Amino acid sequence: MTLSALSMYTEDQLLPLSAVSQYVHCPRRCALIHLEQVWSDNVFTAEGCVLHDKAHSGASESRGDLKILRSLRLRSLRLGITGVADVVELHRIAPSEGGVCIPGIGGTWLPFPVEYKRGAAKDIRCYEVQLCAQALCIEEMLSARIPEGALFLGEKQHRTPVAFDAVLRAETEAVCQAVQNLFAAGVTPPADHNKRCSSCSLMEACLPQSAGYGKSARKWLFRQIEEICPRDDPTVVGGDNPAAVRDRNLS
Ligand code: SF4
Repeated sequence: MTLSALSMYTEDQLLPLSAVSQYVHCPRRCALIHLEQVWSDNVFTAEGCVLHDKAHSGASESRGDLKILRSLRLRSLRLGITGVADVVELHRIAPSEGGVCIPGIGGTWLPFPVEYKRGAAKDIRCYEVQLCAQALCIEEMLSARIPEGALFLGEKQHRTPVAFDAVLRAETEAVCQAVQNLFAAGVTPPADHNKRCSSCSLMEACLPQSAGYGKSARKWLFRQIEEICPRDDPTVVGGDNPAAVRDRNLS
């Protein structure tokens, strides 16, 4: 039996597929949302919700050799993930071309996942990995081979094709394993302050400038005290000046 045919996880060990994309974007954001249940909307997340609502609204459609399935629940016991695909198109093709049978639908079909995202065609690796994770779920569920899918990027209002090549598949599997490790450890990673932070809805909860690698929360706290109550503040009389306490604690 090959590794891909093994069921490694049970149903109650499955993790949300959305965590895969969040992990690629920022492991700390993934942990804040899923381990610490921190959530905050900003204009970007709100726009993303509107786009997803549009994708999920409406019934499934059938147009000749094309069927459009919406809000399809997916899972992979091999990767340990579960979630809902925005849209999965089914294109009628012959078995010799890779078409597979779909339960309840006659004929043979090639699944083609489409994920709706807010944003432009830059820095989309996290979305590509999420889409590939969906494809790997479908492949496992239908014993299919899916060569590509597409991202519908709201800002550009067009589709960007995504090929599920060996590199993307390997990266997606590695990320799924990393997400499992993150949940098992239950520890939120330090912040990696970078340009993505400025558009992150969790900026206030994360405090990326003070919670990064090598940054001490105690030093950050004492810096705040210093700003509020400088050492030579003449208004502080009697008892310990907080800045003096800071100096003692840091020594
Ligand atoms: S503010 Fe930056 S480091 Fe913090 S969760 Fe968001 S992207 Fe990650």
